[in-house]
Amino acid sequence: FAINMNQLQLDEELGKGNYGTVKKVLHKPTNVTMAMKEIRLELEDAKLNAIIMELDVLHRAVAPEIVEFYGAFFIESCVYYCMEYMDAGSLDKLQAAGVPEDVLARIAASMVRGLKFLKDELNVIHRDVKPTNVLVSRKGQIKLCDFGISGELDKSLAKTNIGCQSYMAPERIKGESQNNLGTYTVSSDVWSLGLSMIEIGLGRYPYPPETYSNVFAQLTAIVHGDPPELPEDKYGDTARSWVALCLRKDPEKRATYQELLAHPFLVHDRESSVDMVGWVKRSLDWKKAAALEAAKALLPQSV
Ligand code: ATP
Ligand code: MG
Repeated sequence: FAINMNQLQLDEELGKGNYGTVKKVLHKPTNVTMAMKEIRLELEDAKLNAIIMELDVLHRAVAPEIVEFYGAFFIESCVYYCMEYMDAGSLDKLQAAGVPEDVLARIAASMVRGLKFLKDELNVIHRDVKPTNVLVSRKGQIKLCDFGISGELDKSLAKTNIGCQSYMAPERIKGESQNNLGTYTVSSDVWSLGLSMIEIGLGRYPYPPETYSNVFAQLTAIVHGDPPELPEDKYGDTARSWVALCLRKDPEKRATYQELLAHPFLVHDRESSVDMVGWVKRSLDWKKAAALEAAKALLPQSV
């Protein structure tokens, strides 16, 4: 069935990205809570129709590690994209309270399985792997969203904003500067996966903070510097060697999904039980307490 705006009751805003806003909505006919992403585009109807048709592939993207797609529609050059609502939000907002090694392994395993599914079953390369595109539920599920399914949509997005925190692999940065867009392969996603793991393990974007406001310095560090590593004081050799396999600068030498799954870090994960529900709860409680502290700090001091 097709979803349209009249069926939706708008709720709170969940977040804003470079291209639009994500809102929590209730789909009244089915009573299903969804997340609706609004993407503003300046396009004629024919192009918009092509995008909606391309997005239809998403109905086949059904896997435990992929955020479910419910449907898309457009109104006046905005595409509205409805997907499964993930009630614990994205990974970037949960990492602050700390990510123990067993939880990191479970997240890594889910991401690899999700990316492998996209590649093997749909022949899709994600192209935008980063912590904000990894969503979490209170049940402890980890799912990927925002993968590059629609070439038309991708072309129509204003690519002016590279962002101040790049997850692009070195070969992609080099390729783009040579205006050669054919260099994106599945191993570029593996780099972004490794970088995301370090970010959540470290609690911040892995390249030096001095580079956050200097895109050129950051891209130079990615292309010419040593790849970042998981912090030694928090993670063991198995975890650290797994991440290092993702962050080999030469894409040919980077691990494949098969190899990543066969590595002791993820083999061990398959045999363990991890309290993901407990971790999500602790992280959300921590986030709430931190928000409360921040609000208190804004209140006028009592005399
Ligand atoms: P970018 O625009 O660079 O991709 P982004 O991923 O943060 O950055 P959006 O994809 O627009 O931007 O998402 C904005 C925020 O909305 C995310 O950071 C996430 O916290 C939240 N969000 C997105 N999708 C969902 C969802 N299905 N369920 C719950 N929260 C979501
Ligand atoms: Mg996103």
